[in-house]
Amino acid sequence: MSEPSIFTRILEGDIPSEIIAETENVFAIRDIAPKAPVHLLVIPKSPEYRNVVELAAGDPALLSEMIGLANSLAAEHSDGDFRLVFNTGPGAGQTVFHVHAHVLAGGLSEGSLGG
Ligand code: 5GP
Repeated sequence: MSEPSIFTRILEGDIPSEIIAETENVFAIRDIAPKAPVHLLVIPKSPEYRNVVELAAGDPALLSEMIGLANSLAAEHSDGDFRLVFNTGPGAGQTVFHVHAHVLAGGLSEGSLGG
């Protein structure tokens, strides 16, 4: 068995981080190194999928549940508009191989793809 991911360790309480919201299969935390005024991470409780491509192929309902939670969090923590980022692969900046969505909101520059 491989080591548990940092997000599994947070979920299990081994690493301190407030769980700010959860649904049956998904939870959310604040990113430790925020790149926007609101920068949250929405994460499946199961570490089964390494990235969004695997998740979409294997469990589209779980992907949908993540997007639903991202939407509610953007409404709760900002004005409801948000950018959803799935870094996919090390070359794209993915560092944790337990699929997660970055929810970026609040004061984003218009039309920019940057975080
Ligand atoms: P990735 O680079 O894989 O797309 O995103 C991983 C994210 O997890 C990074 O934005 C990083 O700041 C965040 N992160 C890494 N370790 C921790 C931690 O211990 N606590 C929290 N809250 N976020 C973390």
